[in-house]
Amino acid sequence: MTHLAVPISAGSLNEARQQIRDALATGAEVLELRTDYLQVLSEPSVVNLLGEVRSVSRTPVPVIVTCRDPGEGGAGTHPERQRVEILLAALEAGADFIDFEYANFIERGNDQRIRAALAEHPKSRLILSAHKFQGRFTNIRWGYEDILKACPEAIPKLVYTAGHINDCFEAFDLLHETQGERIVFCMGEAGLISRILAKGLGSFVTFASLNEQAATAPGQLTVDALKGPYRYDGIDAETELFGVIADPVAHSLSPAIHNACFAEAGMNRLYLPLLVKGGQEAFDQFLDNIGARPWLDFRGFSVTIPHKHSALRYVQDQGGFLEPLAEKIGAANTLVIGWQRQAEFADGLDASAGAPVETGGRRQLAAYNTDYAGALDAITTGMGTDRKALRDLPVAVVGAGGVARAIVAGLTDAGAKVTIYNRTLQRARDLAADFGCESAGLDGLSRLNAKLLINCTSIGMHPHVDATPVPADYLQPDMAVFDTVYNPPETLLLRQAKEKGAKTIDGLTMFVNQAAAQFKLFTGLPANADLMREVVIASI
Ligand code: NAP
Repeated sequence: MTHLAVPISAGSLNEARQQIRDALATGAEVLELRTDYLQVLSEPSVVNLLGEVRSVSRTPVPVIVTCRDPGEGGAGTHPERQRVEILLAALEAGADFIDFEYANFIERGNDQRIRAALAEHPKSRLILSAHKFQGRFTNIRWGYEDILKACPEAIPKLVYTAGHINDCFEAFDLLHETQGERIVFCMGEAGLISRILAKGLGSFVTFASLNEQAATAPGQLTVDALKGPYRYDGIDAETELFGVIADPVAHSLSPAIHNACFAEAGMNRLYLPLLVKGGQEAFDQFLDNIGARPWLDFRGFSVTIPHKHSALRYVQDQGGFLEPLAEKIGAANTLVIGWQRQAEFADGLDASAGAPVETGGRRQLAAYNTDYAGALDAITTGMGTDRKALRDLPVAVVGAGGVARAIVAGLTDAGAKVTIYNRTLQRARDLAADFGCESAGLDGLSRLNAKLLINCTSIGMHPHVDATPVPADYLQPDMAVFDTVYNPPETLLLRQAKEKGAKTIDGLTMFVNQAAAQFKLFTGLPANADLMREVVIASI
């Protein structure tokens, strides 16, 4: 059983009282009184705050009293002697838990006084903690065992900074391989998932702050974030995990849309932001780490910048299934674990014919690219036609980056006649050569002769909303104009195309389509595309 602990990190008693009320109102299951934050620290003030918790909570909420050593992340400069007195006073006043640094417990003879006080208050418990702010422990398992050897009744707490998401796995291993009450997670941006997964893996508590200002450690999430987008209340040992692998990842809308759909469908599934820094090697290590730990129950990933190519290579090297067009594009934006497609990935979003089936026992990896299918479906719906009508259609694609590549692959596969226009002409030429298209620089747009124009550059994207990749004079009423930019949903290019009487297709539709296709690959079920669209619009 994992408890959601909210630290009270106020400088004054009045502020602390307010934080206690707010924390209880947000659903704190445990309060941690971080007394080291009090500017005027005294034993009576701590006793007073313990009384405050009892008087305002309708049902008893356990309290951890901590007076952290500045050397282990504590606030203020309270001397060790005073910090020990505070903890002893807290025991005397009925604190459920006191948290003391293991290093100070064993090294300075404080253990005798604390053990004696605990003997007098047998209902109170000791948390013995070790914090490593710079990097990992030499051996976290030894640290855990040392704590239990020194005090078998204590709850060991081991917390370290993850410099990379791959550093989180030893924390997961320790939780997985041990039983009973223990607290293990990672600090820092790269450690974020460990604070969320601590619940499924049975850490005794995980910490979340009232708000960003009240956070007491790097990477601590707010209660609202943990309970809202990360669906903390629903997490248990059976929760299946998904996520978006990206760098940066904080801006990604994917966790919000997939979690909203999982919640709406009542699925015990959770979608996480997975910050994987580095190139192919770091990416491979991350997926190797996942593969070595089936008990984490990761089932699938969205993959975005800069890892789409690495994702395809990884699955290729592992001998997994590659959707043919993803292979041709050279990039995968979706990985599915534990499933193998029996039939070939059929026609984009209409791929239900090749529904995934469990192979049983052996884990299978499969790589797909839902970008081109999402784009092609947005195009055919927007133009009111079907894929057959794309044959011989003259199309102008502006841009030659990753999105252009996926769309060009899909369009040429459907038989369209594509010309690629790009600022860097050589990139346009290279892409055109791969897919048998024509190419030109951006000046070639003045001789535009296409029935479908697609912007695959970032021009016009928020905050540069007054920019457009194609001057209005070049747009024609008999054209369909598709802008892959989805923030804002209506770009200047689309507004000007509409004014000319052209059909318009927005990037939001493509974005929702590719996410819906991922949802189907992840779950085997259709996504609620309307809900996805609502969540994206609300987020941007
Ligand atoms: P990318 O690989 O970095 O390619 C960027 C492309 O934009 C290149 O062709 C680049 O030209 C061109 N470009 C950028 N700034 C330019 C400028 N100021 N003037 C002229 N050309 C410029 O990026 P990507 O992954 O293809 O993404 C491109 C855009 O697609 C994103 O910005 C996003 O808005 C959109 N997108 C949409 C979805 C969706 O689902 N709707 C999904 C992903 C991305 P050079 O080759 O000359 O550098």
